[in-house]
Amino acid sequence: MINGFLDVFLVAASPFIGSFVTASSRSWPDWLRIATGRSSCDACGRRLSPLELIPVVSFLIQRGKCRACCAPVPWVHPVGELVALVIGIFAVLAFDDGWTLAAAFFGWILLFGALVDIRTFLLPDVVTLGLIPAGLVIACLSGGLDLLWLNSLAALIGFASLAAVSEIYKRLRGREGLGLGDAKLLAAGGAWAGPFALPWIVLLGAGATLFIVLIGHVLGRKATADTAVPLGPGLAAGCYLAYCLPAIIQPLV
Ligand SMILES: [Zn+2]
Repeated sequence: MINGFLDVFLVAASPFIGSFVTASSRSWPDWLRIATGRSSCDACGRRLSPLELIPVVSFLIQRGKCRACCAPVPWVHPVGELVALVIGIFAVLAFDDGWTLAAAFFGWILLFGALVDIRTFLLPDVVTLGLIPAGLVIACLSGGLDLLWLNSLAALIGFASLAAVSEIYKRLRGREGLGLGDAKLLAAGGAWAGPFALPWIVLLGAGATLFIVLIGHVLGRKATADTAVPLGPGLAAGCYLAYCLPAIIQPLV
């Protein structure tokens, strides 16, 4: 439910946070570049003015090109900024007070991990392993020791199930198909959303991944059994939806 200044501020700040998250994901793992932010054009190195850093709007006004050298601004920037906005709106609709902020941070960190995974086929440990204790602390603060135990169990089940699938695939096919990063991400999903969310996260993750393959197929990128598609972005979307949607839907039914 929207309740006041904090929520409005959070939604308004979301695209700007998305801009930072997207730029950081493109700089990863260069911490120094992440700390300095996206302050210059990738192609000509010209410093961007404050007006050119307004999320989405600057991309539309400049028609997706640098004003000086006309090099295309990667699509990932406006897309990441819009997804960060959607994350902020979901957090505001699902939770109140400080929990809203916690949920939004969960979503934005998942977005960062998903964008890095798309670019590098690796989910950073700092995202997956960092989100596990964070989720358990939130579970303990919101639901006491009972929820802490339940969600700890969920994290273990989440990791063990995808790690087992990864091992079976490796033995059958003789090569890595599913990285342990995906198993760690599902563990983080369990730590935040609990054991009953795990099947939904996997289902949403697989569905979203299949959707991406289908879009690729339509665009002429034929997928074969050897085509590598990162599972992380789908799983990350599944984690966030499984965390927020029950709280959004419950008051409606
Ligand atoms: Zn330029």
